[in-house]
Amino acid sequence: MGCRQRVTKTALVRVVVGAGDRGPAAVPDPAGTAPGRGAHLHPDPACLDLAVRRKAFPRALRAPGGLDLAPLTTYLTAKRSEADTVRQTD
Ligand SMILES: [Zn+2]
Repeated sequence: MGCRQRVTKTALVRVVVGAGDRGPAAVPDPAGTAPGRGAHLHPDPACLDLAVRRKAFPRALRAPGGLDLAPLTTYLTAKRSEADTVRQTD
């Protein structure tokens, strides 16, 4: 959804609308089991940035009022540092 880079679907994180602290939020659904509309994103904060700039979330998730992206940002940042750790121990 963000950068349109082609990867296998398993490498993507599913994002759904959930309850955030300040109303509707974009939340990660790593298990892919949450009901409702989902959008797919690379597990990378840069991809999230692009999606935000394109206003892709409100469109893909049918949330014209906007979404709190904090839960997703936190998740992707953690994912990123996880990947960095793996690379360092290589
Ligand atoms: Zn991407």
